[in-house]
Amino acid sequence: MDAGTQEELGRLLRGEVSAGVPLRERTTYRIGGEARLLACPADLEDLRRLNAYLVERNLPSFVLGGGANLLVSDRGFSGVAVHLGRFNRLSLQQGSVRAGAGLVLDEFIKTCLRRGLAGLECLSGIPGSLGGALRMNAGAFGAEISDHLVEVECLDGQGRFKVLKKDEVKFSYREALRIRETYITGATFRFPPGCKESLFLIREDILARRRQRQPWQYATAGSVFKRPPGHYAGKLIEDAGLKGKVLGRAQISPKHAGIVINLGGARASDVLGLIRLAREEVFRRYGVELELEQELIGFEGVELD
Ligand SMILES: Cc1cc2nc3c(=O)[nH]c(=O)nc-3n(C[C@H](O)[C@H](O)[C@H](O)COP(=O)(O)OP(=O)(O)OC[C@H]3O[C@@H](n4cnc5c(N)ncnc54)[C@H](O)[C@@H]3O)c2cc1C
Repeated sequence: MDAGTQEELGRLLRGEVSAGVPLRERTTYRIGGEARLLACPADLEDLRRLNAYLVERNLPSFVLGGGANLLVSDRGFSGVAVHLGRFNRLSLQQGSVRAGAGLVLDEFIKTCLRRGLAGLECLSGIPGSLGGALRMNAGAFGAEISDHLVEVECLDGQGRFKVLKKDEVKFSYREALRIRETYITGATFRFPPGCKESLFLIREDILARRRQRQPWQYATAGSVFKRPPGHYAGKLIEDAGLKGKVLGRAQISPKHAGIVINLGGARASDVLGLIRLAREEVFRRYGVELELEQELIGFEGVELD
């Protein structure tokens, strides 16, 4: 990517384009080098123009939400990070809610609960954006973001805007197959009515349970691995004797072995080392392959095994 790209993109888009953006400031791990460029399209037309530009020049890119499920390499990302924070509209009509993907998930949840709309209370406290939550089919305490979803709006790599019904998206555990490689711009939900006070009590209980179970004092990106069928990743890692294991400035949390914490100043290579170790040991002892839930950014050419 040459130096003129920032200038060209700056002229092309109405939204902001910045160069050399430290991704450690935009990820909950607080780890990672710089993104060569960060582009924040102002609206759908801007996003379409950006996508066409990226495709035409074959430039690498990824969508950066709240950075709560990302491990960014120490050398950073040599392409364009696309942030859809400006897709943050919200319209509520009785039980039907149309929301932009750039909304902060937990703010969106609170707004719904305040209106007496039930269904998202169990997801309280999950960091990140609504777009990231849809892409990951984020879930907790038996609920998933897709539960009360009607349809998702997205722009695909060919620049086609699509509105996909929930069934068309093919949601499964931490997966949303048909919107995987798209820019998710928004979604419509239909929530059942609930009692506002009771919903906030459930929210408080969920937040308390999260604080109790998770190492909230540290920078993390939540669960490192998906739950393997019939097991819990944290339990397998703990049984393999790795709870509390330190590498550099990263540690397998002594509180929850499914989570890696940044002790302060951790490098992505420290976290990756712990990931490899956990995968190796759990496979060697129990024959279970741990699959990453977190996404790796800027690790081209680096093998997990
Ligand atoms: C303390 C902590 C607790 C957590 N607890 C939970 C939990 O209980 N349950 C759970 O499911 N997760 C949990 N997570 C993980 C994380 O919060 C979720 O995966 C969240 O949905 C990620 O959203 P994000 O906006 O931060 O996405 P990012 O981390 O920025 O991105 C994640 C993926 O989504 C893609 N993406 C993001 N936005 C868009 C978009 N608009 N269009 C297309 N693709 C997009 C990215 O390219 C990337 O592939 C936790 C994380 C932390 C730090």
